[in-house]
Amino acid sequence: MSNEKIKQRIKTLVEQLNSYAHEYYVLDSPTALDQDYDELYQELVTLENKHPEFQLNDSPTKRVGDTPLSEFVRVRHNMPMYSLGNAFNESDLFDFNRRIKERTSEPVEYICELKIDGLAISLTYEAGQFVQGATRGDGTIGEDITANLKTINSIPLSIKESGTIEVRGEAYMPKAAFDELNESRLKNEEALFANPRNAAAGSLRQLDSKVAARRHLDVFMFGYGRWENAQEQTTHSERLTYLSKLGFKTNQEWKKFTRIEDVLEYVAYWTEHRHDLPYEIDGIVIKVNHLQLQTDLGHTARNPRWAIAYKFPAIEAKTTLTDIELSVGRTGVVTPTAILDPVLIDGSTVGRATLHNADQIKLLDVRIGDKVILKKAGDIIPKVVRVITEERTGKEIPYEMPKTCPACQSDLVHLDDEVALRCLNPDCPAQLKEGLIHFVSREAMDVKGLGERVIEQLYNESLISSIADIYTLERSRLLTLERMGEKSVNNLLEAIEASKNNSLEKLIFGLGIRHIGTKAASILAANFKTMDALMKANYEEIVAIDEIGEIMAASVIKYLNEPHVKGLLNSLTNMGINMTYKGPALEQLADENLLFANKKIVLTGKLASYTRREAKEIIESLGGEVTSSVSKNTDIVVAGADAGSKYDQAVKLDVEIWDEETLKKETDGK
Ligand code: NAD
Repeated sequence: MSNEKIKQRIKTLVEQLNSYAHEYYVLDSPTALDQDYDELYQELVTLENKHPEFQLNDSPTKRVGDTPLSEFVRVRHNMPMYSLGNAFNESDLFDFNRRIKERTSEPVEYICELKIDGLAISLTYEAGQFVQGATRGDGTIGEDITANLKTINSIPLSIKESGTIEVRGEAYMPKAAFDELNESRLKNEEALFANPRNAAAGSLRQLDSKVAARRHLDVFMFGYGRWENAQEQTTHSERLTYLSKLGFKTNQEWKKFTRIEDVLEYVAYWTEHRHDLPYEIDGIVIKVNHLQLQTDLGHTARNPRWAIAYKFPAIEAKTTLTDIELSVGRTGVVTPTAILDPVLIDGSTVGRATLHNADQIKLLDVRIGDKVILKKAGDIIPKVVRVITEERTGKEIPYEMPKTCPACQSDLVHLDDEVALRCLNPDCPAQLKEGLIHFVSREAMDVKGLGERVIEQLYNESLISSIADIYTLERSRLLTLERMGEKSVNNLLEAIEASKNNSLEKLIFGLGIRHIGTKAASILAANFKTMDALMKANYEEIVAIDEIGEIMAASVIKYLNEPHVKGLLNSLTNMGINMTYKGPALEQLADENLLFANKKIVLTGKLASYTRREAKEIIESLGGEVTSSVSKNTDIVVAGADAGSKYDQAVKLDVEIWDEETLKKETDGK
């Protein structure tokens, strides 16, 4: 590239990055992916390093963040609030280690902390009282958001420290609060927040503190600015402990290492486990532990030299939505799925993502041909979170949900206040197929060898169209089918035969009566003992059963009175399907149906809404046993804040881990 071209490229990059930074920091509404921003930023750094003479004064490499919003009172930081240099791979971390080692002959200790994905805040205390809270802003001047920060319960309003002290950290929105917030915005037809970071920043940068108060924000404090009566601590780790003693919420998940190889291992561990946390982290921050060495190393215009942020690979990706496909479920609900240009995200290639329902399509205003942002977190199915409307060409085609079922062309309707669209045709082939798949599934009649693919095949060959047909399948006909050898036909017929002896609850569940899950099916079977008795029961008798509510009872009555049901059950009886209950006695069943029946549960970490004793009582009242150590026999580990070695052990042994929010949700009202 000629010098003129390089100069021009630098100018373009600076303009583009500054515009992105304004959207990100000031408007809390980015249009670019972090990953794309970071790539352009790295390109600028490389060009500037080679040609310092072309560096522009307004280059983002020379400054932190962006100008604070003028609506807020401005706060000048006593000491600048820096950003952090980034590392994206192992070699960046080795370079960081080398740079530090070159400047000292002493052994170096590193503190690794989780990089909380929120926004930087500073809290100033004078004579023990919280007097001012601010955003980082451009690093020199931030915004006064004291009133908003006061609504966060984990920020102490007073501390036992006489002189002026400025404590720094990150305000963030826990994942559960973020999901709740976006769900309610969806209901109110308000624009959704792209991620918890934007939601946290948007909440704290509101002029009305009532908004922040409703948003369930939280903080982790990990740094300090001016500290008048600085104690005699010599290390960052001592200071973290001291901050925690003063009453600040610090994240206990930090570790000290002396070897960079161990730092890499820690980074690898959290790259894999970050989705287990109840809040988002976007990397690991590595800090030199000794304060004197920190001072000696100093900082650049933008970053301290004694710390670096390792950034995890992106969990968001940009791609094109090429089509919207509809599928009809067992109960007739029509679900739209986005068909995407396949894109690599968090280690796997994604070509489809759920769009939930017509309202979601409307809310996202997603059109065929749109560029969209996909997000994948852990095992969760990828979601389309945003449309990049700025990149529309005008050729995108708005999507209209059809008025008729894609499988049978019957009219689609909204039942009651449901968001979902349904096909009500009981003979709809898509529903019939889904119903058959449900009937043979593990929790229902458990017919091994009869998976989705085989059902599809049998249905398409017109061998089955209703549940009863499964029991009339003929060996000779099955043998003529593609991919059906002697052995698989034998196994299939044996499995079908065996399913005839199932206890009644499996059949009741398999019928796919709306609102009747496995638990309700067991309760109905244990109460009525035979299908005959259940069919003769009236609404009052069914609703009188503990745990069977009005909606369930009405649904059972409605189903049993459908014209085809009597015939179906008669056929099944004639073909030898068991119609009696063989399960445990009712009293025993009540215990077995409890949420934690026969489960061993370990509690670890701090729970915010229960004492240990309360949590133990709740678990025991739901049939569980609380034990103290995590082993292969442990069923669930409930991990509160700052959980330590038991959490690690649970991860190692692959034991199910619940956070406090999950415990609350699962046990709510039970
Ligand atoms: P950063 O988020 O990369 O890292 C610095 C910040 O990390 C600190 O200010 C601090 O608030 C936070 N942090 C969290 N946990 C910490 C811990 N334990 N110890 C120390 N600090 C911790 O830097 P930044 O300057 O806030 O933002 C730069 C990044 O923002 C870019 O890399 C980019 O990904 C993103 N960005 C995106 C756009 C966009 O348009 N998408 C625009 C601008 C910036």
